[in-house]
Amino acid sequence: MNKYSIAIHGGAGTLVKGMMTSEKEQAYKSSLEIALNAGYEILNHGGSAVDAVEKAVRLLEDSPLFNAGKGSVFNASGEHEMDASIMDGSNLKAGAVSMIQGIKNPITLAKDVMQKSEHVFLAGNGAMEFARAHEHVFEEASYFHDDFRHDQWQKIKDTDNFQLDHSDKIDSKFGTVGAVACDQNGNIAAATSTGGMTNKRFGRVGDSPMIGAGNYANNKTCAVSCTGSGEYFIKGVVAYDVACLIEHKGMSLEAAASEVIHRRLLEINGDGGLIAINTKAEISMPFNTEGMYRACKASNGEELIAIYGG
Ligand code: ASP
Repeated sequence: MNKYSIAIHGGAGTLVKGMMTSEKEQAYKSSLEIALNAGYEILNHGGSAVDAVEKAVRLLEDSPLFNAGKGSVFNASGEHEMDASIMDGSNLKAGAVSMIQGIKNPITLAKDVMQKSEHVFLAGNGAMEFARAHEHVFEEASYFHDDFRHDQWQKIKDTDNFQLDHSDKIDSKFGTVGAVACDQNGNIAAATSTGGMTNKRFGRVGDSPMIGAGNYANNKTCAVSCTGSGEYFIKGVVAYDVACLIEHKGMSLEAAASEVIHRRLLEINGDGGLIAINTKAEISMPFNTEGMYRACKASNGEELIAIYGG
């Protein structure tokens, strides 16, 4: 049996120790732990990497602490517009949705696009129509409302600023969620889901639903889920760049992920982090911000739940 493992993230940003109460820190850690264990249990029972990453991301979407699903940030029009994508490294099948509203679990919609449509990427009204046709659960706007996110938006609405999640500094917080997994058959997958950035323009699409930018999986190299300033992750084609360094330069997973986050992304002024996995169930979780909500668990007993760097 192959070694198997899963890693998840809840966003990177200006996460400095002492910034939040120990109760809040504990709440984040237990939400991460619940999602991690649910994904891991699927792998433990012989389930697929695709099912494991979907399950972990669904639970993070259901938590108001993270900027995805419930708890998504407000855009400039005071609404929630969400993006998500998923990719199966065993066959390069992928599904993505963007500019969707009211859908409880965007990651499951992305999975349905991958498995039940002829397409890879559905956006806006077309994605919403597909969701209705496949009987996805819709929620009222009040379900997605969170006072903390609303206050974040009130501070910068009517300005040209748009802001990432998880800190008090403008332009320095990211709250996207994601998961990567390697199953008992040695197949890998990646899933990413987000509300995007506070006060983003209506219609703005970030890196999270873009295959190759914020999310990628290929058994030949690695599976990657990113979080950070989406515009830079798109320009750097970050998730695919990690795979390319492995495939074409023969780098290890750790070296490739670190090279992209600590050098190539910084060179274009991008900040954030990623989680990556390969078919040997090795995991890498680099970030160039102060912290990143992250957790991982492997069948050899290794386990980590962490927030800060250093
Ligand atoms: N990458 C996401 C975006 O730009 C934001 C995040 O990671 O929180 O939409």
